[in-house]
Amino acid sequence: MREPSNGEKLLDLFLLRTREPEYAIDQPFYTTGSIVAAALMRIALIAVVTMALKSYVSSSTTWWIAMIGLWGLGVYPAWLQYDKYHERVETITDGTLCGTCRHFNRTNQLCMIMDEHVTSTTPPCEGEGWEPA
Ligand code: SF4
Repeated sequence: MREPSNGEKLLDLFLLRTREPEYAIDQPFYTTGSIVAAALMRIALIAVVTMALKSYVSSSTTWWIAMIGLWGLGVYPAWLQYDKYHERVETITDGTLCGTCRHFNRTNQLCMIMDEHVTSTTPPCEGEGWEPA
């Protein structure tokens, strides 16, 4: 697995991606926590930019830029990412042994006894810890 570059780390901080990067192998790229945190950071950034713009453009223009920015960069990407997160959880739940196991935590795609993320069809415990849900 290759390490992400500094530019990629910055992209990931604000979660400005609509698909998972190829280096996101060992752990899920989209989690509810990362989606919400990144959306809040983007919204905070939009608020700062909007306040800076206030002295250069009219209030109504600032208002429109803020609203379009909130939707386009704050809420809409988070919604797309949550959709992808949900799809991935469904794929794991429906297509793997872990999905039917009582130790699988859907929220963070984690095996609770192995303390490992389930990212493929091969269970981290190799089936030895499986118990029906
Ligand atoms: S105990 Fe095994 S089968 Fe169950 S969630 Fe963990 S890795 Fe998957």
